[in-house]
Amino acid sequence: MLWGDGALSGETIFSLELMGKKEGKKDFIRQIIAGDLAKGKHETTITRFPPEPNGFLHIGHARAICLNFGLAQENPGARCHLRFDDTNPVKEDTKYVEAIQADIKWLGYDWGEHLYFASDYFDYFYDCAVQLIKDGKAYVDLQSPEEMKAGRGNVKEAGTNSPYRDTSVEENLELFEKMKNGEIGEGKAVLRAKIDMESPNMNMRDPALYRILHAHHHRTGDKWKIYPMYDFAHPLEDAKECITHSLCSLEFEDHRPLYEWVVQNCPTPSEPRQIEFSRLNLTYTVMSKRKLLDLVNEGIVAGWDDPRMPTLSGMRRRGYAPESIRTFIEGRGITKFNSNTDFALLEADVRAHLNANADRRMAVLEPLKLVIDNWEEGRVEEMECMNNPENPEAGTRKVPLGKEVYIERDDFMEEAPKKYFRLAPGQAIRLRGGYILNYVSHEKDPETGEVTQVHVEYIPGTIGQNAPEGIKCKAAVHWVSVDHAVDAEIRLYDRLFTEENPDGFEGGFMKCLNPESLKVIKGAKVEPVLAESGKEYSCQFERVGYFCTDKEDHEQGEKIVFNRTVELKAAKF
Ligand code: ATP
Ligand code: MG
Repeated sequence: MLWGDGALSGETIFSLELMGKKEGKKDFIRQIIAGDLAKGKHETTITRFPPEPNGFLHIGHARAICLNFGLAQENPGARCHLRFDDTNPVKEDTKYVEAIQADIKWLGYDWGEHLYFASDYFDYFYDCAVQLIKDGKAYVDLQSPEEMKAGRGNVKEAGTNSPYRDTSVEENLELFEKMKNGEIGEGKAVLRAKIDMESPNMNMRDPALYRILHAHHHRTGDKWKIYPMYDFAHPLEDAKECITHSLCSLEFEDHRPLYEWVVQNCPTPSEPRQIEFSRLNLTYTVMSKRKLLDLVNEGIVAGWDDPRMPTLSGMRRRGYAPESIRTFIEGRGITKFNSNTDFALLEADVRAHLNANADRRMAVLEPLKLVIDNWEEGRVEEMECMNNPENPEAGTRKVPLGKEVYIERDDFMEEAPKKYFRLAPGQAIRLRGGYILNYVSHEKDPETGEVTQVHVEYIPGTIGQNAPEGIKCKAAVHWVSVDHAVDAEIRLYDRLFTEENPDGFEGGFMKCLNPESLKVIKGAKVEPVLAESGKEYSCQFERVGYFCTDKEDHEQGEKIVFNRTVELKAAKF
């Protein structure tokens, strides 16, 4: 995949970035900020993260969050505001406001007392608009949307002035007042900045500042019948909060002249500087909130926090640690070049974190029963098993062993091929942390031919010791004692899409869904200590993968539900 479309340039840049990082070189934004501070341009830095509450945050947002909040942590006296950019009432909702706050905190960041809502500035935006009209820099255009579109021209042709461009200030003030009071219908008028219809930058061709929307707002109710456009509101929000560096994604580069125009022409308390950086894109997923909403609304996933979603809530529910997301984001650096990052890189960081930190436990997903013929009825012995071989401090735990044991169905074969080293006629296996078991016989369902149980004999004195002469034992398998096993539901999650670039898939992203993105195993058996784990407990099921208890459906001691976080090793393509 590293050599796939667009990936090469992105990954090459990324490795160059990393080289810079190792030498302690700052990314270009950190360099600009350090320069501004050195010149005394600002006393400190104030950044902001400005989500629109129209969906949950995704891994792309994590780049903006880590950058903005990260800067606040790195510079003395600096801070980062959380500001909800709630200027479009139609798609916004308080449930998103709450989810966004929870996700940012989970990721490890805090805005302190600096929580703001663009809707708190609606009066200020309005006053700025009135000032622009008074200064002859804005006018109400009564053309139809089609006429306005035609008048804008295109990249090759200059636009033409609207017939309303030179209406008097008084008349404009009156019309704008009418817009505000709901006396003009939706789509019948807009307030436009008077800039330059011939500008080579389309954004400067008398852009709309306000539109009419007779919509209910989740915070201001029915007070407003007009709502500011993003390009007008955003610079004013930044200036109002004295943001020093307004960091946004690359698609706003062409909007920067308008951003500056608004700041310069409105009564603002400060002059923030906009700097753009490239968005984070990931293979095998879609990132636009509109598309994520489609997945939710069409029932393709169980909700915004479904573990297959690229949302922070989904990744949390899947068992990704916030540390590994931060490591992943930092590892990619901040650049000016758009690229598509391999999802496997994120998984590698998730895995590395869990490998170092997660407990080892045993779970049998497809159980096959072994009967230890030479084990006395009722005898229970405790095996001492390591909690994490990567971390000796994690210690050991005792795992009970009785006369009957579950192992994975595929750890036994009736007719073993040459390279099969697990249990088979003539072959022994070791129980992890326990005895060597030697094959005796097996039973089958006469109708289906399925192996129903296997008889074995344990070899005393083999815990931690080699097999005695004449016994072939080359593998140690995970196991759960039948009498002590706890039932569990295990959800095996996989990628949601089969294509590396679902956005570019012919027929649309909905046409390349992975039909096997979720497989539910109801009859799994896990070791008894797991009955006591609470929600969001992460562990490695030995030889199987990394798993975590589900944040919603798992109930300690009642209903054991594990989600697969990531496989033990990266899949080979
Ligand atoms: P989407 O297109 O997914 O709906 P958006 O940009 O409209 O995203 P906002 O809520 O407006 O979503 O985003 C808040 C902030 O997060 C913005 O500053 C935006 O630039 C940044 N952001 C959004 N997506 C990404 C991404 N993929 N990579 C980096 N930053 C992003
Ligand atoms: Mg947006």
